[in-house]
Amino acid sequence: MARKPHDEGSPGASRPADDRPIIHRPASGPGRERSDEPSSDPYAEDDERLLSPAARLPGDQEEDAALRPKRFDEFIGQRKIVENMAVYVEAARRRGDALDHVLLAGPPGLGKTTLAFLLANEMGTAIHVTSGPALERKGDLAGILTSLRRGDVLFIDEIHRLQSVVEESLYPAMEDFRIEIVTGVGAGARAIPLQLEHFTLVGATTRTGQLASPLLSRFGIVEQFGFYGPDELTTIVRRSAGLLEIPIEDDGAAEIGRRARGTPRIANRLLRRVRDFAEVRGDGRITREAAEYALGRLEVDAHGLDATDRRILTTIARRFDGGPVGIESLAAALAEDRDTLEYVYEPYLIQEGFLLRTPRGRQVTRRTYEHLGLPPPVTRPGSGQGSLFEP
Ligand code: ADP
Repeated sequence: MARKPHDEGSPGASRPADDRPIIHRPASGPGRERSDEPSSDPYAEDDERLLSPAARLPGDQEEDAALRPKRFDEFIGQRKIVENMAVYVEAARRRGDALDHVLLAGPPGLGKTTLAFLLANEMGTAIHVTSGPALERKGDLAGILTSLRRGDVLFIDEIHRLQSVVEESLYPAMEDFRIEIVTGVGAGARAIPLQLEHFTLVGATTRTGQLASPLLSRFGIVEQFGFYGPDELTTIVRRSAGLLEIPIEDDGAAEIGRRARGTPRIANRLLRRVRDFAEVRGDGRITREAAEYALGRLEVDAHGLDATDRRILTTIARRFDGGPVGIESLAAALAEDRDTLEYVYEPYLIQEGFLLRTPRGRQVTRRTYEHLGLPPPVTRPGSGQGSLFEP
């Protein structure tokens, strides 16, 4: 889509686009440091995992920012979402109004933050960045809301982790662009209504199911991100390699793309690691052989599964006879956090057909046995319990 110059009166007309975000970090105090984050964060325990889709490994944050596509035509994959958003942005710009509130849902590392930045950039407005856990009090939110200018994007990551009192004060802000600020205490307390500028709330969540319906219903646009295909990831790897000036062959990029767990952030991270191997063990060029060697050393297998994925599948296959096994029993057997299993590991295993979520629990599939090189469970004649895989 050709980019139009700012229309007169469009939200960003008075202010040129500046892609420096305004980051609203909590001031200080207990519970505000990352290390103090509640363990209900499924990614908190996942820090060191190479294939973790969360941006928690050294270098991730800086590199994420450097590699983020900034325009619709640079954003690879998620075609339907991008095409829809491009229409909504164009319509909002023509009306000179803010974009409707947007909820972006899906596993980490798929481009939700990237799209939020891109939307602000395409709207020609500023982006203010915060997250559910960072907004501890109503006052934290009020402070940010009152600083927003017309058309600005307020990005709230992990919006499912908002405190309910903060969330409730968000409702009138989203709906009528107004908030109430309470001054004084006790009998002298007064609520002062304040009118806000028309802004766009972009919420990101890994768990739409955990959003209260009053919040969900206030988003005019809800988009669900899916995993990327190997071709899209290969394109992303080639683009990132170009930006980072890493010499790479198409086969090398394809090998990384195939093993990136359907996730751009992982593709970029693997690219960085493979480059290290190629530089130290070879001539620095990422060929298919170099990628295969490095990924083998990193224990990322041909389907992009890592040691933890394989441990989950092997435990179900061996210890629970292929399942079904309840998520709690599985988490206990693996000594993993239940939420981590459910929101970080399982979505990709399910999408790739290695795992089934059934009403009675988790089950592995024939594909799992083949992949792990394990014999499938045998049918017990007369037991009335056929093999899992029999018609
Ligand atoms: P999320 O917010 O869903 O956790 P991010 O938006 O932070 O994910 O994406 C992680 C990184 O992956 C980004 O820095 C960007 O480099 C890359 N990325 C994500 N989506 C795309 C895409 N569609 N095209 C190219 N790179 C992407």
